[in-house]
Amino acid sequence: MKIAVTKEIEVGERRIALIPDMVSRLVKQGWEIYVESGAGEAGYFSDSAYEQAGATIVSDKAELWQNADIITKVSSLKEEELPLLQKGKSIIGLLDPLGQPETIQKLADQGVTSFSLELMPRTSRAQSMDALSSQGNIAGYKSVLIAATALPKFFPMLTTAAGTIRPASVFIIGVGVAGLQAIATARRLGALVEAFDIRPEVKEQVQSLGADFVEMDLEEDTTTSDGYAKEVSKDSKQKSQELIAKHVAKADVVITTAQVQGKRAPQLVTNEMIKQMKPGSVIVDLAGEQGGNCEPTEAGKDIQMEPGVTVISPINLPSSLPIHASQMYSKNISTLLQYLVKEEQMQLDFDDDIINSICLTHNGELRSQKVQEILAAKTESKV
Ligand code: NAD
Repeated sequence: MKIAVTKEIEVGERRIALIPDMVSRLVKQGWEIYVESGAGEAGYFSDSAYEQAGATIVSDKAELWQNADIITKVSSLKEEELPLLQKGKSIIGLLDPLGQPETIQKLADQGVTSFSLELMPRTSRAQSMDALSSQGNIAGYKSVLIAATALPKFFPMLTTAAGTIRPASVFIIGVGVAGLQAIATARRLGALVEAFDIRPEVKEQVQSLGADFVEMDLEEDTTTSDGYAKEVSKDSKQKSQELIAKHVAKADVVITTAQVQGKRAPQLVTNEMIKQMKPGSVIVDLAGEQGGNCEPTEAGKDIQMEPGVTVISPINLPSSLPIHASQMYSKNISTLLQYLVKEEQMQLDFDDDIINSICLTHNGELRSQKVQEILAAKTESKV
């Protein structure tokens, strides 16, 4: 099996699908690994490190993709990459199937077999292949560091000869993987942390990290069968916003991470709420790329709001820690390769929930029901 590791062309993407350490392990198991020249440079992984690990460096992307059986990548496919994918090839990555369903349809039309890590089931069996978790951890950690740097205050409590400093209060909205890591990181920095989520089952996880859970009875089922949050009714949204407003007003830092799979992120923090915050407070909105959890959010921008509140919405935070993000992503990819390929053959058993969930296209067919539904809804809205 020939595996290609390609250079990412997404602007600002510094991660790579397989790091040299992982390449070395795979080569020892008999895999042939081909790496595009300069592919790891932005993450401090040199061509020579890949050569030492047993990979072959290929300078031409088209040649690399043509000769490989499976192409591994991080970011979703760009229009100019599609013609490089020939019939019968396989591609694995964070292909953004729910955001770019048309691209996935093209992969089906081209006879490409594609696997999306975003659709990995969130089960213990799939945990070592769960890239949303590995990368979400990084986003949660980094969001707190960004907030701590922007906040004109300390995070920890300090007792000094020059007086006592009260700890910062941090309010986290959305307690999935990123939110939990944000809680843990803010606690490590000594802040007092509160957290809110519409899924009540996260209460114990929040408390076990030393934070207070802001509780609310929504009187509706808020969790899908996959464990993701549902979009809540207007009534529940209003009720939760009243509660959120009280806690936002008290916080020095608000970190928002709320997402609903395949949908625009819910808008939870309004301009009115921001007006009630203390001057100097900071909001970090991790959902900016999905439309934002805060009314003024613009992905990639820092916005200054009255009365002196900074709303920061960073883009692709995992890429800002490219060494560890790539190391963790590599583990996800290599485990998946070994899961898919047995005795030098890709074996796709669609009765297996992991393969059935992540395989978007195969043999000219668009398999993913979620992608089909989004495409059908788009067609309907045009009619
Ligand atoms: P996500 O990125 O989809 O969403 C982040 C959080 O936002 C979620 O906790 C969600 O409940 C919350 N949210 C959505 N709408 C909200 C609203 N209106 N107000 C407040 N909060 C809102 O979440 P994720 O990190 O991808 O995790 C999704 C699920 O998968 C979670 O249940 C998580 O525990 C689970 N998970 C399971 C495993 C495993 O079992 N192996 C691994 C990772 C994640």
